[in-house]
Amino acid sequence: MYIGGEWVPPASGSYIETVDPFTGKAWALVPRGNAEDADRAVRAAHRAFTEGPWRTMHPTERGRVIQRFATLIEEHADELAAIEVRDNGRLLEEMKHQIRYIPRWYHYYAGYADKIEGTVHPCDKPALSFSRHEPLGVCVGIVPWNAPLLLFSLKAAPALAAGNTLVMKPAEVTSATALKLMELVEKAGFPEGVINVVTGYGPEVGEPLVTHPLTRHLGFTGSTKTGSYLYSLAAKDVKRVSLELGGKSPNIVFADADLDNAVRGVVGGIFGAVGQTCIAGSRLLVHRSVHDRFLEKLAAFTKTARVGDPRKVETQIGPIANKMQYDRVLGYIDIARQEGAELILGGKRPDLEECNDGFFIEPTIFAGVNNDMRIAREEVFGPVLAAIPFDEPEEALAIANDSEFGLAAGVWTADMRLALKMSEQLEAGSVWVNTYRDISYTTPFGGYKKSGIGRENGVAGIYEYLQTKAVWLST
Ligand code: NAD
Repeated sequence: MYIGGEWVPPASGSYIETVDPFTGKAWALVPRGNAEDADRAVRAAHRAFTEGPWRTMHPTERGRVIQRFATLIEEHADELAAIEVRDNGRLLEEMKHQIRYIPRWYHYYAGYADKIEGTVHPCDKPALSFSRHEPLGVCVGIVPWNAPLLLFSLKAAPALAAGNTLVMKPAEVTSATALKLMELVEKAGFPEGVINVVTGYGPEVGEPLVTHPLTRHLGFTGSTKTGSYLYSLAAKDVKRVSLELGGKSPNIVFADADLDNAVRGVVGGIFGAVGQTCIAGSRLLVHRSVHDRFLEKLAAFTKTARVGDPRKVETQIGPIANKMQYDRVLGYIDIARQEGAELILGGKRPDLEECNDGFFIEPTIFAGVNNDMRIAREEVFGPVLAAIPFDEPEEALAIANDSEFGLAAGVWTADMRLALKMSEQLEAGSVWVNTYRDISYTTPFGGYKKSGIGRENGVAGIYEYLQTKAVWLST
């Protein structure tokens, strides 16, 4: 692990095997951290915050270190992508593209570091009152396995630019790239202890990071269940949290939509990353007048997807990231069948000669779903789409909002008045019209309802990592 600028073995002396989901075989060992390691990492980050130059450095200089880090990530993007693919089975081409895009988060927030301005307040007392924004201290970031380095960076870039120090914990099944990234942290010239990485299981090393008395902020991306539990732990010490949690996002197709365009968007929304994205458009709401035609087109287009080795350029759908998730997705397919949903595509392992041991599941579409079924209410986090017909826009809206989640929604229509009305009334942190799954470092992202608290990206993202101090000055 990387603590206080040094490479250290875990206190437990134990390691976890990390498995390549394409071959089903272990390919690396990662340290199994525990409370002792968590304590050591938080103390190192605290020392770096209170005694080191990071917080007091001029923000332009801080920005320059972060810019150097960004350039190093750019230079090592393909190497990092190859490691990420071994860990989670995402498509190599997609991961190269994603990791080449990650430096933009660091550039964006590095550029913002010296533009965080305070305010002078109109004051009714004989004093000058002004406020300034200050860093919080030690920030803990806990991230999942579906997009390890991207989700790491969404937290690290704004937290560092704001002058905080960090302890990051990647998912136990995808820790390799976060550790590799620490080689670049050294080269970029971050003072020791500013960024630390500990690895291991959530309850063993993640929880002690959250409850540590010197931790000031938790940035968590993961399931709503874990997020809600960690929120309750943070609440005991009134620690600040930013939570990016699960989703059950609706993709709503109206009769006047460009159906071919909508098909591509819906397919990308649910089968991209094999459905393992928080923003997966896992509920398809289709106007009844085009329902059958749309599903036919959808099934025909989905069937053309090439499933296989994630390292091959021509592959469009790779394996599920790990065995646990694979079993969970197959479990949901059984549940949907038992609930009476009509399977119109997929629903099983594909026959693949090239990779018989990999965790593959065919892209799966269920029709005849109603919004009370578990397949429409619970996050599957896999390539399983649940199609529900509707008649009126109000009905689509009611079904879309009838969910405990509120992360994202898609609307497909040529009628911009309708699109705007839907975007106003959908309970979701992101609404895409005639597009889906776009995210950018410039645009706030986060959830309504049980999908989260706070926003990542854009200017809003850096204020998650700042606190405001009012100063009264009198003679
Ligand atoms: P998870 O909640 O099981 O795990 C996420 C992280 O939390 C992992 O690093 C894990 O080790 C850690 N963790 C687990 N239990 C912990 C505990 N008791 N204490 C401290 N840490 C603990 O989620 P997952 O299955 O790895 O990821 C999939 C979930 O992430 C889905 O629900 C998905 O929607 C969500 N997600 C959300 C976003 C978003 O931006 N909203 C993005 C990606 C994924």
